Formats: sequence, structure tokens, C-alpha cells
Amino acid sequence: MDYKKTVKKYIYERDGRKCRFCDKDLLFRQISLDHYVPKSKNGPDDIFNIVLSCKKCNKYKMDKILPDYDETIIENFKQAVIDKKILESSEHLKYQELSEMIKSVDRVESIGEITIFQGKNHRFYVKDNNIFKIIHLG
Ligand SMILES: [Zn+2]
Repeated sequence: MDYKKTVKKYIYERDGRKCRFCDKDLLFRQISLDHYVPKSKNGPDDIFNIVLSCKKCNKYKMDKILPDYDETIIENFKQAVIDKKILESSEHLKYQELSEMIKSVDRVESIGEITIFQGKNHRFYVKDNNIFKIIHLG
């Protein structure tokens, strides 16, 4: 299975086989993938910014940034770390340690080619589904 198809399958299951916007049940062949923060607004291709959508909602949403975008991508980010879809290459942490560390993430500092998530004690720099830098705060 190629990378794109793997990602598609993952998003399909992660989002409960439903359109994230209208809740409609979707068959795999009916799905489209939507950049939650649109590409035109600097939204990256990372897995946390991709959600399941029906074709209608994808079209309708167009270039809007939805008000809950930070909540949504934080939730997707945490899930992707737990599901080992986002890996960490900066400090070679054990999976358990990393899973603990990301629990407190509650803020998106910046989104774009590099996205920065912040929790209580750490700031995570993410690019291409990879945490490439972690800064310890305080
Ligand atoms: Zn929909």
C-alpha cells in the first residue's frame, strides 16, 4: 500500500468513517480528505490537519478557517502520536515518555510548514509528520 492510501485508511478509521462536518456515514470510495486549515491559509499536509469529509462539505467549506481549528488539530496531533503516525526524531524518547509529554498540549503556537504545539512544559516542532525539535520550558 502506498503512503497516500495508508493515510487515507488511517483518517477513515480515525474519524469513525463519518464526515467531520455533517456526520454522514461514508463508504471508503465516497470520501474526500480535507485540509482543516486550508492549504491557501498555510495549512500543512501533516496528518493532524487532514480530516475526513464528504465531497459536498469539502466543496462547501472552501477556504474557510473554522473557529475550532486549534482544538481539532491538537486532538488529531495527540491521536497521531498515540497511533504512532507522528514520530519523534529529536530526542529519541521512548513511546511512553512521548505519549505522557503530549498529554498537556493545549495550544497551537504557529501553523504552517512547521507547526508548533505547546503544552505545560514543552513545545513541540512538527514537520512532515515528525517531531523534529522539543523545547523544555521553564
Ligand atoms: Zn459532509
